[in-house]
Amino acid sequence: MNDIKTGESFRDHLATITDEGKRKWIYPKKPSGRFYNARTIVSIFLILFLMITPFIKVNGHPLLLLDILNRNFILFTIPFGPHDFHLFALAIIALAVFIILFTVIFGRVFCGWACPQTVFMEMVFRKIEYLIEGDFKDQIKLKQAPWTSIKIFKKTLKHIIFFLIAFFISNIFLSYIIGMDALTKIVTAPPSKHLAGFISMLVFSGVFYRVFSYFREQVCTLVCPYGRLQGVLLDQDSIVIAYDNVRGEPRGKLKKNEPKNNLGDCIDCNLCVDVCPTGIDIRNGIQLECVNCTACIDACDTVMDKINRPRGLIRYDSLRGIEKKEKFRFTPRMVGYTTVLVLILSVLSYLLITRSDFSINVLRTPGLLFQEQPDNKYSNIYDLNIINKTFNPAPIELKLKNVKGELKLLGDELNLKPQEKHDSKFLLILPKSSITKMNTPITISVYSNNKLLKEVQTSFLGPVAEKGKS
Ligand code: SF4
Ligand code: SF4
Repeated sequence: MNDIKTGESFRDHLATITDEGKRKWIYPKKPSGRFYNARTIVSIFLILFLMITPFIKVNGHPLLLLDILNRNFILFTIPFGPHDFHLFALAIIALAVFIILFTVIFGRVFCGWACPQTVFMEMVFRKIEYLIEGDFKDQIKLKQAPWTSIKIFKKTLKHIIFFLIAFFISNIFLSYIIGMDALTKIVTAPPSKHLAGFISMLVFSGVFYRVFSYFREQVCTLVCPYGRLQGVLLDQDSIVIAYDNVRGEPRGKLKKNEPKNNLGDCIDCNLCVDVCPTGIDIRNGIQLECVNCTACIDACDTVMDKINRPRGLIRYDSLRGIEKKEKFRFTPRMVGYTTVLVLILSVLSYLLITRSDFSINVLRTPGLLFQEQPDNKYSNIYDLNIINKTFNPAPIELKLKNVKGELKLLGDELNLKPQEKHDSKFLLILPKSSITKMNTPITISVYSNNKLLKEVQTSFLGPVAEKGKS
């Protein structure tokens, strides 16, 4: 049950903090209804996807890997590394613009339907809480009751289950970062052998346990930056979960012997407030705390059904839709964001499509001219930089294409490991007869396993051969 601030004061107070600055615990009534059922189905799919994905391997490699520590990522079988930083930066910008555009149009629909915090909190932890401690009134009673054996049993059972689930979530979370193989080693070996991994696992478990057992809606209200963005992103045309004050006000209790009165459709039953997991009253308007969980829509629809009024007193709609009964329209602001997003996505798609498995660069070593060699030959030194972006080892071979000469590697043979970045130097030796200009254009073909990877254009500095001499 939520003791909310009403009237204008709700803008100056957080519903979950007392005037003394203490936490006010929220006991939301168990939600039910069509939106809640739909969200349950979506959550099952999301949780299954989250749990199964780390186990999926394609050609021995994970389908998804987000190894932030080593800057190695595998996205749907394609490996990305530090060399792909430009793609990463562009993808982050595209994501930011997408989030802005999505929020401008659909408000916080992501928070209610897909955010891991809401999905785990409302669809896993809260459901277990209802199962063990009962609905909100039973929970309040249990809280106020003395510490009997039943209360100790229920609380202990709940917290053990919460910790086990938090431990499980932390394992899944880690498997995305270090991969399932590394995680299996940590889990199966004695903790002393993987102390760092074991400690991280315990820390993550502790954090998740604390978040879902205690911190709860405070994550959305106080920590999540996305919620804070709402104030600048939402406008009158954004689709949000809103109370139709035109239809609902003036609110008032329905009296049995007075079915027709001058009141609006809201019968002030407070059910929409009772079910709210963030403790707010949606009838006060859009608020920072609202995570678009749809619980108030379901609660109000049930009431409307009972009093024979049309559903949708609380619904997905824009402020303009509610006040002026206008349908959704694509505003110039939305067109602007969409254009920017399409442009960024086009550039990103082009870079992804044209992205090759190898990055190869050859540059004549700066600051050096040519060197005289025996037998009337000259040489230049070049810097070679190759990145093998694939999962396979790659032997590399360099061949001169347009001139006769000799290529000598300064160092070992080029055998690149998977995902290896290699820097080395090589010597290019040309007979004086091949040097026609101060700056002779050179084409070097780079092969791996007899497959041409790239033809690199560079130049050779040397003295011009005098006519009639070789
Ligand atoms: S559930 Fe509907 S009728 Fe009841 S108080 Fe909320 S808005 Fe009014
Ligand atoms: S106001 Fe409604 S949609 Fe928003 S958090 Fe509360 S119950 Fe969920």
